[in-house]
Amino acid sequence: MGRPTREARIDLEALAANVRTLRGVVAPSQTMVVVKANAYGHGAVDVARTAVEAGSEWLGVVDISEGLALRSAGIRVPILAWLHGEDADFEAAVEAGIDLGISTFPQLERAAATAGHALVQIKVDTGLSRNGVETDLAAEMFRRAAAFQREGRLTVRGVWSHLANAGEDADREQLTRFEAAVAAAEESGLRPELRHLAATAGAISLPESRLDLVRLGIGVYGLSPFDGVSSADLGLRPVMELSAEIVSVKRVPAGTGVSYGYSYRTPAESTLALVPLGYADGIPRSASSAAPVSINGKTYRVSGRVAMDQFVVDVGDDEVTVGDRAVLFGDPSTGAPSAEDWAAAAGTINYEIVTRIGPRVTRVQSW
Ligand SMILES: *Cc1c(COP(=O)(O)O)cnc(C)c1O
Repeated sequence: MGRPTREARIDLEALAANVRTLRGVVAPSQTMVVVKANAYGHGAVDVARTAVEAGSEWLGVVDISEGLALRSAGIRVPILAWLHGEDADFEAAVEAGIDLGISTFPQLERAAATAGHALVQIKVDTGLSRNGVETDLAAEMFRRAAAFQREGRLTVRGVWSHLANAGEDADREQLTRFEAAVAAAEESGLRPELRHLAATAGAISLPESRLDLVRLGIGVYGLSPFDGVSSADLGLRPVMELSAEIVSVKRVPAGTGVSYGYSYRTPAESTLALVPLGYADGIPRSASSAAPVSINGKTYRVSGRVAMDQFVVDVGDDEVTVGDRAVLFGDPSTGAPSAEDWAAAAGTINYEIVTRIGPRVTRVQSW
């Protein structure tokens, strides 16, 4: 059996190495590897298992259902889930031992009302203006949580927040607001075992933000959260390599229009290679005629529009045959283009490039 036509190769050894590298940077703080959104498109269960083997004490998810899927796969480490709709299943989360991130008073009430004993981590909005209780309401939230805790209905295991990455001064202001919130929690009689604020960027660039634990996403996938700083600069190895088999090759005359709208025409007689990946697979249409593709060790460009299922690469007079592989991105140290190259071509960030890779692409784990 050969390789899948469309393959996202997931290098779990690189993932484990990245977890260990980042743990070394942030020690003695604990780490929570964030596996939301199918582990940024890399496959949640395999990533979670590998991260735990590499030493991550915690796993982080957005939805309770993502946490329940990890529990069903036999993963036993503590898990935090933090974004809940009104119908989110708090009962199931508590039963499965999943910590609930709590951002609102109704969520706190619902956690206290579950049949089991809820483990909660109260999120404070220190300046990102997304979820989390507003700082001026935090003291009241902590008082109510402390009352529930005295009644034995829940335990406040953590207090946490999230940085806006709006520059060092803004990050430090958030840290100051966070420290005030922690002080308010303590005044209410709470002694949360975990205070956490930093994701990958803060964990690397603002040591004071590491506190008891850091939540690591993009870095464990081997990608940099910083503009102009590469994976290699951070000692990280990209985990995902996206490639596809070339399914058709044809020789065409000069001036041949390529793909919808003829936004590309061959400048001379040349060879066109067809790659069976399109925007349905997460290939950004905005990368049309721009993003790099490596074939047989040489880098070309997408030629013309990315369609739903396929795009074309003009390889000129080079020898390319059906069955050769087109590598879209991977580890630049292997000669592959990077996810950052694709992000630049598409006007987005590396996070979006890997996370959007769709279900028609076969994930193949390697070690
Ligand atoms: C996604 C997310 C993270 C991880 O962020 P990275 O920048 O990928 O490290 C951490 N915390 C929260 C609340 C998140 O939503």
